[in-house]
Amino acid sequence: MKYHTTYPVFMAFKCVDHRRVKQEEVTEEGAKGAKIRWLITRDDGANRFAMRHFEVAVSGNSPLHQHPYEHEVFVLKGKCAVFCDGKTEVVEEGGVIFIPPNALHQFRNAGQTTLEFLCMIPYLY
Ligand SMILES: [Zn+2]
Repeated sequence: MKYHTTYPVFMAFKCVDHRRVKQEEVTEEGAKGAKIRWLITRDDGANRFAMRHFEVAVSGNSPLHQHPYEHEVFVLKGKCAVFCDGKTEVVEEGGVIFIPPNALHQFRNAGQTTLEFLCMIPYLY
């Protein structure tokens, strides 16, 4: 059998319900009630960036932190108060957030239901 693909074979086509991907507690210091699913990663052959799914419980938050890579965020459900370099904005379902590299930032659930968002990050190493 001959395969015709436009990508190297180690980069396998993947389709999966996100709820089937293992969910882990965010254990970074300062995180509260935050869980992560690594939806697409290097293990899938995605060497340039990763797609993660977050769930933040009511009154929970991600850690206040900074790093040399950016975040590209899409809010799926709930209400997110996002702090970035001294400014706070409230973003609801359908909202999109860009956190520049090295910006001090934090995502906080500002609603009464679980906050869900996608967050993409590049692999810089
Ligand atoms: Zn971050």
